This record gives sequence, structure tokens and C-alpha cells, in this order.
Amino acid sequence: MQGLMMHCPLTVTSIIDHGNRVFPKKEIISIFPDKTRHVYTYADLYKRSKKIADALLGKFQVKPGDMIGTYAWNHHQHLELYFGIPGAGAVCHTINIRLSSSQTEFIVNNAEDRIIFIDAILTPAFENIAALLPTVEAYIIMNAPKGFKTSLPNAIDYEDFIADAADNIDWVTVDENDACAMCYTSGTTGLPKGVLYSHRSTWLHAVIMSLPNYGNTSTEDRILVGVPQFHVMAWGIPYGAVLCGTVLIFPSCHLHPEPFIDIIINEKANKANGVPTIWQGIYTVLKKNGVSDSFPLKEFLVGGASMPPTLIGNFQKDFGIKAIHAWGMTETSPVGTLSRLQPQHASLSDSEKIKIRALQGQEVPCVEIRIVTENGIIAPRDGKTVGEIQVKGVWVISSYFKTISHENFSEDGWFKTGDVGTINEEGYLKITDRTKDLIKSGGEWISSVALEVAIMAYPKVKEASVIAIPDELWTERPLAVIVLRDENDSLSMDELHSFLLPSFAKYQLPEKISFIKEIPKTSVGKFDKKEMRRLYAEGKLGV
Ligand code: AMP
Repeated sequence: MQGLMMHCPLTVTSIIDHGNRVFPKKEIISIFPDKTRHVYTYADLYKRSKKIADALLGKFQVKPGDMIGTYAWNHHQHLELYFGIPGAGAVCHTINIRLSSSQTEFIVNNAEDRIIFIDAILTPAFENIAALLPTVEAYIIMNAPKGFKTSLPNAIDYEDFIADAADNIDWVTVDENDACAMCYTSGTTGLPKGVLYSHRSTWLHAVIMSLPNYGNTSTEDRILVGVPQFHVMAWGIPYGAVLCGTVLIFPSCHLHPEPFIDIIINEKANKANGVPTIWQGIYTVLKKNGVSDSFPLKEFLVGGASMPPTLIGNFQKDFGIKAIHAWGMTETSPVGTLSRLQPQHASLSDSEKIKIRALQGQEVPCVEIRIVTENGIIAPRDGKTVGEIQVKGVWVISSYFKTISHENFSEDGWFKTGDVGTINEEGYLKITDRTKDLIKSGGEWISSVALEVAIMAYPKVKEASVIAIPDELWTERPLAVIVLRDENDSLSMDELHSFLLPSFAKYQLPEKISFIKEIPKTSVGKFDKKEMRRLYAEGKLGV
């Protein structure tokens, strides 16, 4: 027997409908690259999102499922696109602005983006590749200064685009399982793969992440969005915030410690989110300059890479700021687990509490995790048995966009994360390693396989392997382990970089090389990265 409740689809547009009805005067603040401050209300956001939808429908006859790209920093216009594009029935495809031009070209062509909304300051990246993007019909330029010029074809100013659009149209009707947004994630082979979020998955993630045990969002909060909006929709934080009537603060490109701290102070942000690299930098500056009693930040969400326990402890001890450690992936919308203390931990010492908070944490509702050992056995939750982390749930990927990848799923349908770890008796996940051949630096991926293939194409190189080495600021950096064809030859860093640069973003280039006689191999002849990591840790790789 079915329940007798109304069938109201869970759509992301219902989030802004609610925000507009209940919190129309709540503020959204953007601090632009030149430090200009822009403020408007939820009611303004609502109307301008409607204009976006109307302009897309009227001027481009956008159809359900069309891909519309964004290439932008964190600001209110980007938020308008979070609602306006799905409001037209289309998919908001946020493109990572840190990728190389060849990676961006691949992503836009793979997604078949019809229109790209792009910040004026970021247009040079697309001017280089526009001729290679046959599906893109127009570029809508955001935040263009007076006299701005671009060689992009069919460039339209954002404000002109929405100027005569209606702000009261009905959102296009969609099913809650229809796609509303897409982000690409690095594939181990170097080809990024699309992850397509549904209205329903986004809505449920926003609601659950707002609960006190998890993201802990309320109408009292002023949240500074420190995760780029192209990164899993800023971890879904803006959607949850609008549901809760939170003041949202967007820092545009100001993600470096000093300006970020200025924004925290000036805008009285009591919460924020960001990757460990950001928090490492912020801690260093706060420690040097000191923190006044009125420093507003009380709590922040950190994830995307492992947050060192000492840093969690230092934020707490030195400034009374709570770092909430979370684990997740682009494929999990992103949050899968999150670490908060439970009442039974109240009597523990401070250092024992930090140890727990530094774990990746417990499953959030709607997500289940399990550890599967190398022998295919589901591990007990004993905090000792190590295996691959597999995950399933309402906002977990069931298939990549346009890609069949059985290897990413277990036979019974769980997503294989490529992360390795344990789960303890209390259900806390601890990540101990990674099986996927990727390096995470400052929250951004570097494909070691793609680097290896590229380095081996250099005539002087006989064999090359790339491993992740620990780095205090960036969490990990790539180390190139190289065997030269001719032992007596040499290869300088500049030479290697100029060879690699056309295909990689700058941050993806290794700045350390180890020259060795032979790369260690496994019994089946694969590069033995575990062994190379061991050699590096023991100082035997000569770097
Ligand atoms: P992305 O898809 O870019 O969000 O990256 C997801 C991956 O980042 C995960 O599979 C992990 O390898 C890593 N990751 C995310 N959060 C954490 C964390 N809290 N601790 C350790 N690794 C993490």
C-alpha cells in the first residue's frame, strides 16, 4: 500500500523557492578580486535565477538535459547559475578552472556544453581553445570591466543577457531524478570522468548536511565558502545554506590566507569550508599575528585530503576553533563521513579527543560504507582490518557520464572508492592509503599515470614512474622517478617542465626528480609504487 502524501519532487529550485519565501532579506555577499564588496538578498538571488532560466529558454531554446558550463570563481552570479540553469531544465556543469587547456578541451567536448558562463578574468584560458569546442554556441561573460574585449566567439555580457528576461517565469518541470549538475573528476588514466548529480541527490545531501550532527547549518550562521564552486558544487554548502537562511559569503579568488582571514573578520564569518592546504596557511598566519577575542570563526569543515591531527589540535588549543574533518569524493556529492565527538567521548583527554576528530569520521545518513579486504571479505569494524573502502547511498554515483566502468563497482553494486582504510567499533573511518594512481595536491588531482606516460615520451627517458610524496603545505606533491636512456646524460627540471607544460597545469608538474638505475617492479612487472614510497621514506631515492 502506498502512503497518501503529496508527490512533490525534490528539486534544487524548491530550495531557492523556500529561501525566497522564508528568508527574502537574508544577505549574500561577494568580495571580488579587486576587493569590491557586492551585497544583495535571497529575494534578489531568486529573481535573477529566474531571469537566467528565462534567458536560457528564450535566447537559446535550452532543452531538458542540455549541458551549460560555468568557468568562474566564487560569487553570487555563480550561485544564480546553480539555480537558474537547473531551473531551465538544464544541467549546471561547473568546470575546474585549474586544469590545463587540453584537459578543459576534453571536458567541454565530452560534456557537449552548449554555452559557457565565464568570468572575464578567466577568458584567456578559453580564447586558446575556443576553436576546438564545436558544441559551444556562446560565451556569457561575467564581471567584465569597462572596455573589456575578448576574442571568444558570440560573447555576451552577463548583465545584458538577463536584462530583459522575465523574473517571474515558472521553473521548467522536471522529475526529481533528472540531472541538475555535473562535475568532472580525474580518472587514473588522465581522462576526467563526469559525475552527474540529480535534483533529488542534491536536495537530500543539502538537507542532511545541514543537520547539527553533520554540517551544522542554521539561520544564525554566516558561512564563508572557501571551497571553489567548481569543486563538487562547493561541497553542496550553498544549497544547504539557502535552505537554512544562512548569510552566504563568497570570496571570489581570495583563497589565500591573508585575504581569506580579512574576509572572515570583515564579514564576521562564523563558519567556513576548505581543503587542508588552505587551513594550514591560515593557521600559520593566525599564529604569527595572533587572534583577538572577537575573531568570529568558530568552526570549519575540512576535507578533500587528510587533515593532520596536529593541525586540528592546534586550531582548537590555540584559537578555540573547531575543525570538522570530513571525507568524501566528487562521486559521493561529496560528503560520505564526518567526524564529530559523541557524548561518550566527553571524559576523554584533549589529545584522545583530537585523535577521534582527526579520523575521517562516521557515515552520514543516506550513505553506507564498508571495508573489503584483498581477499574479497567484508572486514569487521575492528579498527584494524584494512581494505578498500566501498560506499553506497542516495547521493553516491551509479555510473559515470557516458562511460561504462564496471571496474569501479562491486558485483553487488557498491562504488569502489580507491581509498583504503579501517572502520573502528564506533563506526569511525580511518583512511590509511589509496589504491588509485592519483596524487592529491592542495585539494586538486594529479594523475600519476598521465604524467608517467608523458615523461616516458621524452626521448632522453627510458622509464618513468610518478609517486606521491608527503608535503606539509600541499598534503602531497608528485615525485618523478626516472631512468635515463643514457646513464651519462642529464635532464634538467626546466627541460622536463617545458616538455610537459602544454599538456599539464602548472601545479601538476613535479618539482623533484629522482634518477635511478631501474624502477622497482612487482612480480607481474608493474611499477612497484609501494616500494618506491618506502625507499623515499627511508631517504634512499636521493631526493
Ligand atoms: P575528489 O573527488 O576530488 O573530491 O577527491 C576524493 C578523494 O580525496 C577521496 O577518494 C580521497 O582519496 C581524498 N579525500 C577526500 N577527503 C579526504 C580526507 N578527509 N582524508 C583523506 N583523503 C581524503
